[in-house]
Amino acid sequence: MELFAESLTSYKRLLTKEVKVGNLLIGNNHPIRVQTMTTTDTMDTIATVEQTIRCIEAGSELVRITAPSKKDAENLLNIKNELNKRGYNVPLIADIHFTPNAAEIAARIIEKVRVNPGNYVDKKKFEQIEYTDAEYSEEIERIRERFTPLVKICKEYGTAMRIGTNHGSLSDRIMSRYGDTPMGMVESAMEFLRICRDENYHQIILSMKASNPQVMVQAYRLLIKTMDEEFGEIYPLHLGVTEAGDGEEGRIKSAVGIGTLMEDGIGDTIRVSLTEDPEFEIPVCRDIVKRYSVDRLTSSKVDGEEIDSLSTNQPINLSTTKYNPFQFNKHQTTPVENIGTGHVPVVIADFGKMQNITPQSLQGIGYTYDAALDKWHIADAAADYVYLDKQKIDFALPGTLKIIMPYHQWVENKAAHIYPIYCLEHFIAEKNVHDALNFVMIDCFNPGNKDYELLDQLKDKQYVVLCLSSTNKNAMQSVRRMCIELQQKQINHPIVFITDSNWQTADEHLIHYATETGALFLDGYGDGICLGMTQNSYDDFSKEENQLTGRIYTSPAGGGKEGAVESFLSNTAFNILQATRTRISKTEYISCPSCGRTLFDLQETTQKIRSVTHHLKGVKIAIMGCIVNGPGEMADADFGYVGSGPGKITLYKGKEIVKRNIDSEIAVDELINLLKENNAWIDA
Ligand code: SF4
Repeated sequence: MELFAESLTSYKRLLTKEVKVGNLLIGNNHPIRVQTMTTTDTMDTIATVEQTIRCIEAGSELVRITAPSKKDAENLLNIKNELNKRGYNVPLIADIHFTPNAAEIAARIIEKVRVNPGNYVDKKKFEQIEYTDAEYSEEIERIRERFTPLVKICKEYGTAMRIGTNHGSLSDRIMSRYGDTPMGMVESAMEFLRICRDENYHQIILSMKASNPQVMVQAYRLLIKTMDEEFGEIYPLHLGVTEAGDGEEGRIKSAVGIGTLMEDGIGDTIRVSLTEDPEFEIPVCRDIVKRYSVDRLTSSKVDGEEIDSLSTNQPINLSTTKYNPFQFNKHQTTPVENIGTGHVPVVIADFGKMQNITPQSLQGIGYTYDAALDKWHIADAAADYVYLDKQKIDFALPGTLKIIMPYHQWVENKAAHIYPIYCLEHFIAEKNVHDALNFVMIDCFNPGNKDYELLDQLKDKQYVVLCLSSTNKNAMQSVRRMCIELQQKQINHPIVFITDSNWQTADEHLIHYATETGALFLDGYGDGICLGMTQNSYDDFSKEENQLTGRIYTSPAGGGKEGAVESFLSNTAFNILQATRTRISKTEYISCPSCGRTLFDLQETTQKIRSVTHHLKGVKIAIMGCIVNGPGEMADADFGYVGSGPGKITLYKGKEIVKRNIDSEIAVDELINLLKENNAWIDA
C-alpha cells in the first residue's frame, strides 16, 4: 500500500475484507454498492415501505431506516414483512443513535445496524473533561460492557454492523483527548472496532463522515493507515459527506468528498446525503460509481495510459516531499498578479466556444450590466479571467475581468488587460513574452512525455502561471503526479487546473469536475480553476432537462442556450472552491437529509431560509431536522435552525442555544433577528 491507497498513480481498488449484508457482499472487490435512507416516520409502516420501494426501484441496493426507539425498532419487522410480501428483499439497515436497546432489537430483525460511536453509550454535554490514562481505560471498559451485548447478538444472528463516526457528533471523551480532528474520528471508531475484534466479530463496515470534505477525506485516509498498521487488514468503507445540502451544491460537495477517495480506489459502498427525496440520491451515487466501471479500467490499461508509478520512478516519501495527504497544507507558490499564494484561487471562464459575446453574456459569470447607469454590478462569485479564442469584444469590460487569449491573437491585440497563453515548448523558446503574466499549458499525461523533459527550463522564468491538464484516463493522478514533481523541483509558479468534460448530463459533468479538481484542491494544490467541455458535450448541453429533478440549464440572461454552458461552468467552479473551502463566495448551508425523526418540512424550510440568507457570504447556517442529533451534527455552523418539537424550532449560535422552542411560523424571522444581533446580516 502507498500511504493510504493501493496506488497513488493509477486507479486500483483498495482491497478490503468481505462483509455479508443479507445476500449482498460488500468489500473484497465486489461492486461498489449504492444506498440511501428513508425520511418517513418509521412507525408509519406503509409510508416507509412505499418510500423504500421507490428507493429500490431507483437502484438502491440497501436501504437505511431510522430506529430512534424500541417501538420503532420493533416495527422494522412489520416493514420487512410487508416489503417481502410485495417481493422486495433488499437488505435493511437500522440507524441507531443513543438507544442501545433499540439496536439490540433491530439486530435480531434486519440485516445490518448502524451505530454512531459518538453517542451509542455517551450522552453529549459539550463538556471538556481531563482524563488520566487510568480513567480513560475505565471509560473504554464502560463502552465494552454496554456495546458487547450488541456485538454478540449480531454474531449470533449473522447481522452486519456499520460503525459510523460523524465529525459533528464525537463524544465529549474523544473531543477532550483528540479534539475535533480526523484523528479523533478515527480513534472513536477504532475503540468500537477493537471490541468487535476481541469478540471475533468481523461483519463490520466503517464510515468517517463530515460535512467538510477536507476533514472527511483526511479521516478516511487516516483510518485506512491506522487499520493497516494495527491489524494488517482493512474493513470495507462506506463513504459519504453529511449534511451536504441540495441541488448543485449538495451534489458537488458530495462528489468532492466521495470522488476524491474513489479516485484512489477507496470505498465499497456510498451514500450521497441530499436534502431532497431519498430516491434522488441514487442517480447521483450511480453517476459517481460508474466512473470506476470495469470498462473504464480495462480501456485504461489497453490504451497504455497508466502513468508511471511514483513508487518505481521516484519514491513518494513524506520526508522528501511536502505532500501530506493527512493534513491540509496549502502548497506555497510565488504570486503573479492576483494568482498564487496570498490570493484565493481564481476562476477562469472559458468563452472559447461562444459565438457572439455581448454584455449580457457576462451575466452568467457574475457581471450584470446596467445600461441606464452604464455600470457593472459584480457578484461575489464573479469570474476573474475570461478565455477567448478568436472572438472580439467590442464593449468595455468590467475593470476586474481580464482576458486570456492564444499567443498569436494576443500579439495582434495587445492591451493592459489581455494576457497570452502558450504551450510549454513555445513559451520556453519565445522571446517576446508579456512582462507581467503569461499562462503556460502543461500536459501532465505521463512522466515520459515531452513537457516533463522541459520542466527544468521553467525554473528561472518569471511571471508564469502553469495551466495543468491531462488526457490520461487517470487524469487526477497524473496532475497530482505533476504537482508533486513541481514541488520536488522547487518550481513554484502558481498552478491553474484546466479540466474538460466529455460527459453528457449536467449531473455527470458536475461529478466529473468536482472529482477531478476537488481531489487536487483538497491536497492543497491549485491557485485557479478553468472548466471546459468538449465540442460534442457543449453542443448537447441542456438539450434535455434532468429527468428526476426537473432542473434545466439556460442562459441567465433571459432563457435560451447562449451562455448557458459558460454560466454552468462558472457556477460549478465556484461551488467546487466553496466545497473545498479554498474560496468562500456564498452562504454555506449545512442541512441534514432528514429522516423519520424530522419535525418539519426540511426541503421547504431550507428553501425558505436560503431565499432570505443566500447573500450572506461566508456565514454557515445549519438546518437540522431534530434536536436529538441536529445540534451534535451541525459541525462548525455559525448558526443553527433545529426542530425541537412539533411546530417548534430552537435557534443556536454555534453550539449555544439562544432561542428555545419558538413557534415555527416566526422562526425564520427570528433567525434573521439573530443574524442581525450578531452582525452577521447585511441587506440584500
Ligand atoms: S439531524 Fe436530521 S437526519 Fe439526523 S437524525 Fe435528526 S432529523 Fe434525522
